[in-house]
Parts: sequence; C-alpha cells; structure tokens
Amino acid sequence: MQLSADVLAQFNHLERSGALETLDDLRKENRSLERIITDATLLVSYTDVEAMLGFIISQLLDYFIPRFLVFVIQPPRGKHIRQFCYRNLKKADDTLDEAYYEILRTHFKTNPASISLADLQKALPPDTLGADFLQFEPEIIFPMFGIGGMYGTVILGSKIVDQKYTEQERKYVDRMIRFLSVSMQNGLHYESSITDPKTGLYTHDYYMHRLEEALAHNRRHGTRSGILMLDVDHFKRFNDTWGHVTGDEVLLALSRVLVKTVRTEDCVARFGGEEFSILVTECTPEKLMQVAERIRTAIESLRIPCGDHQLSVTVSIGARMVDGLPGISPMILIGDADKALYRSKGSGRNRSTLYVQGLLERAFILRNSR
Ligand code: GH3
Ligand code: MG
Ligand code: MG
Repeated sequence: MQLSADVLAQFNHLERSGALETLDDLRKENRSLERIITDATLLVSYTDVEAMLGFIISQLLDYFIPRFLVFVIQPPRGKHIRQFCYRNLKKADDTLDEAYYEILRTHFKTNPASISLADLQKALPPDTLGADFLQFEPEIIFPMFGIGGMYGTVILGSKIVDQKYTEQERKYVDRMIRFLSVSMQNGLHYESSITDPKTGLYTHDYYMHRLEEALAHNRRHGTRSGILMLDVDHFKRFNDTWGHVTGDEVLLALSRVLVKTVRTEDCVARFGGEEFSILVTECTPEKLMQVAERIRTAIESLRIPCGDHQLSVTVSIGARMVDGLPGISPMILIGDADKALYRSKGSGRNRSTLYVQGLLERAFILRNSR
C-alpha cells in the first residue's frame, strides 16, 4: 500500500516538475529524427533531380501544405539557373526573378542559416524584396550548400491553413533541405557528366551504356527496339556561309526538335560534331521508320532566324532494328546504322534508310558468336 502511494507521489512530482512533458517531447523528437533518417536514406538513392523533388513533396504532404515552394538551382558548369515551383505542392509555372537569387546568395554568403521573411527584410536594405518576390508568400528561406559553397535556395511559402510553422516543422524542413542539398548536388553533377554541354543531349558514352542495356533487355524479354543515326547535310557548307555561331544555334534548335519528337524513355545523344543518335525503345521496323520520317520532316521545316533570313537544314538518317539475337554488339548496331545513313547520303540526302541484314551477313555473325 505504502509502495503504491510512493509511486503515485513520485509520478505527481514528475508531472509537476514538467519532466513528463519533456519526456514526451523527446519521444516526439526521436520519432521525427527516425523519420528524417529514413527519408534521407531514400533521398540519396535518387539520381534524377525532379524525382528527388517529387520525393520531398510527397514527404511534406504528411506534415503541411505550403502555398508555394520554390527551388532555385544553379547547376554546375555555368549552366542556366533552373527553377521548380510548386503551388499547393502541385507543379506550377511561376518563376522567381533571378536577380533575387543573387541577393539571397550575397546574404547567405555571410549568414549561412535559414531565415524567416521578417528577419530577411530586416537584414536587407528597405524594399529590396519587391511584390514579385512577396507573391510567393515566403515564410522561411533556406540556402542550399554543397561542395564549393551555395548553389541554390528554397523558398517555403506560408501554409494554406493560416498557421505559422512550428519549431519542430521548421527543424524538419531545415534538416531535409540539408540532405536534399547534398543529394541534389550529386544528381546535378551526375546529370552534367552524362550530357553534352552544347546541346544538353546525352553523351556518346551514356548512349552506348543505354544501348547495351536495351540489348540485354531485348534478350531477356524478347522485345525489340531501334536506333537512328542522324547527320546534318552539307553542314560544312552551312558553316562556311553563315558562320559557326549560327551553326551552333542550328545544332541547339535541332536538338530540341529531337527531344520533342521522341518519347521521354527514348535516349537522344550527340555523337559528336553534327551527328546524333536516338535509341527508340520498344518498336517495330515500321514504327522506327515512322519516327525517323517524323524527325526528318520536323527538321526540314525548322527555321532559324539570322538577320533577314530564315535558315534551314536537312538531315540524313540511317535506321537499324535492335533485337536480342546473339552475336550482335552495340558497335555492330552503330556500324550498320551508319551504313544505312551513308545510303541515305548517297541517294540524295534528306531521307531515311532502314538497314536490312543480308542472309550471308547474318550467317557470318552467327558463326562468329559460337
Ligand atoms: P554531309 O552532308 O556529307 O554530311 O556533309 P557535311 O558538310 O555535313 O560533312 P562533313 O563531315 O564534311 O562536315 C561536318 C561539318 O560539321 C564540319 C564542321 O564544320 C561542322 N561541325 C561539326 N561540329 C560542329 C559544331 O559543334 N558546331 C558547328 N557550328 N559546326 C560543327
Ligand atoms: Mg558528319
Ligand atoms: Mg554532315
């Protein structure tokens, strides 16, 4: 009897002293930390920047919905600033004036911690943050730091339910953004290592790796895909007439057409100079030739303004089906597509040719694969 009275007294004492509440807070904090560790572990497994953001968004949904969430990112190699804006956690097209990124960069250089809007306004000269900044209803602004310093910022807008962020929520976002900063910088470096700086298309090396994967996939699942080799017609003459700078503009415009004309799962690469290759996943010979012709005609009708002129180029294309038959390597496939491309060149340019394997050739490859 005495024992239970002692226990009760002890409990009351703990309650009065606030120790129980502290314990409860610690438990909550612990749960939140466990969640951050799980989230952070998942986050580092992403290589794609948009997928990383998608993951962050899905995690935030469990906590709160900000009216705006804006990521402003400065990729490596001096590429253009990229922005990702979410309104009520749904992708939106709003963009922040890039001048604000510079203002924030200057601020965070000497004050590397996240900051509330009110404190930021106090730290900056009056009226530095105009209506075009405040339209995002920013509540907390975070820097993104990686190797080499700051490379981005995150603007967290106010919640859709009119409440301030709790200390715990702010801590959670702060920690997540620290993890995101590291993962995202890795992702950006990976992206830039597999893309060509002039056109933003994939590199030759990455393309060959994808082709190898497609071959393996076809062998396992009995599926078929195809490759297209493209070469700009008389491009030397074009450069000689209009200059290399205009030539570069053509390559960039043409690259955009290529990306727009194929599916996202297809791989568009710059092979070097004015040569490109496309891996068309899951297709038939008819489908492959349809894609080739769609690309050829889209480029034919592309116009590049240059002074008073509207310039255009054409491409010749070679196509080769990729099945899973033994003895075929990526090098053989590229070589065959090249042969078809030279047939297109030889028969007048601005056309597509499908490579057709002769019986003798097939027998030769099969014998060599044994
Ligand atoms: P063909 O129809 O037979 O392909 O003729 P072509 O003149 O395109 O062929 P060739 O291979 O002789 O010349 C390719 C030209 O592409 C040479 C070079 O001036 C140009 N070129 C290659 N890379 C670039 C580049 O990055 N920028 C620009 N502007 N031109 C490039
Ligand atoms: Mg060429
Ligand atoms: Mg050429």
